[in-house]
Amino acid sequence: MAQLEAEGGDTGHRGLSFGLSTGTTGEPGVFITSERDRARWLGSFLARVLPPALLLRGRAAILLCHDSQLYHQTGGRTTHISLSLGAEGCARALEEARPGIVVGPPSALRRIVEAGGFRRRFPVGLVVTGGEPLWPDDAALLADAFAAPVRQVYQAAEGFFAAACSYGRLHFNTDLVRVERSPIEGAPDRFVPIITDLVRDGPQRMVRYRTDDVAMEASGPCPCGSALPSVAGIEGRLADYPIDPQDRLLLPQDINAVLSPALAGSWFRVTQTDRGILALELPHAVPGPQAARAMRLLYELSGMAVTRRTLPSLPLTAKFRRTLRLSPPGTAPLLSRLQPPVMLSTTSRNAA
Ligand SMILES: [Zn+2]
Repeated sequence: MAQLEAEGGDTGHRGLSFGLSTGTTGEPGVFITSERDRARWLGSFLARVLPPALLLRGRAAILLCHDSQLYHQTGGRTTHISLSLGAEGCARALEEARPGIVVGPPSALRRIVEAGGFRRRFPVGLVVTGGEPLWPDDAALLADAFAAPVRQVYQAAEGFFAAACSYGRLHFNTDLVRVERSPIEGAPDRFVPIITDLVRDGPQRMVRYRTDDVAMEASGPCPCGSALPSVAGIEGRLADYPIDPQDRLLLPQDINAVLSPALAGSWFRVTQTDRGILALELPHAVPGPQAARAMRLLYELSGMAVTRRTLPSLPLTAKFRRTLRLSPPGTAPLLSRLQPPVMLSTTSRNAA
């Protein structure tokens, strides 16, 4: 039915919308929303993410794989641009749409602005990223390319979980969803959010849904003064964390902190191909000595053998993950690291 709706057909279910999300493993998720769900999603999104000036006169371009009725409740002020157009195609479509607000996954937006055909001849007021972790180097690159602030949101087909404030912290929408944290053994300042949607009333309820995402704790209250509890960001999917031979988790943030400066902001991906073996995947253009230095740093960080591979060219519709784990031991040892959940409420230590 989601496919039928995407093709403009009638599903025969009045008031319900069937949507497809970008599946993290390539298999899209399906979600069902009632009219009220959609209205509430849009209202919360606008209130949390957009400054008043943009709210009143902004036009938005949504760059995602799949269109959804969720994005078309704005009286024609929203344009969906399909990522299946490719980077050049999206760059042209953006120029035609001339949006004041650009929404999309950070890696796809970065590839669009790096495309040869990208010329930003229109003023952008805000860039909103979602669907993937927003790394500081990508945030800086996008802010520069669009000459606009970059904010990330954390949401999934399952709902709208969190939005970043102007300080870059991600505040959970604990007035709309209940968030429990499942601590991770071996990563004391990380947790996996478990979400219960308190306001959704359509046929698809969400009760204690364990995401596979890893949130990074922030230190101290957020200077923005919001009463909503905040985290520093989402680091990635737990299933993608490399594990060293001593069974320690290798944190993507640590990998990024080492590799991103060493590679001068170039694209990279660290893939665990087997026990004790990492592949550093780089574009051809990265010079040998720079790659060798990055490989040495990664070896020093992880204690694992590091090989160089060519970064495959992925379609724009694919999620890009900076770490990936292909090898056994599968997810069971990762799941066993998850501790019983505890509540994260608005009255927690970092509430204002
Ligand atoms: Zn804040």
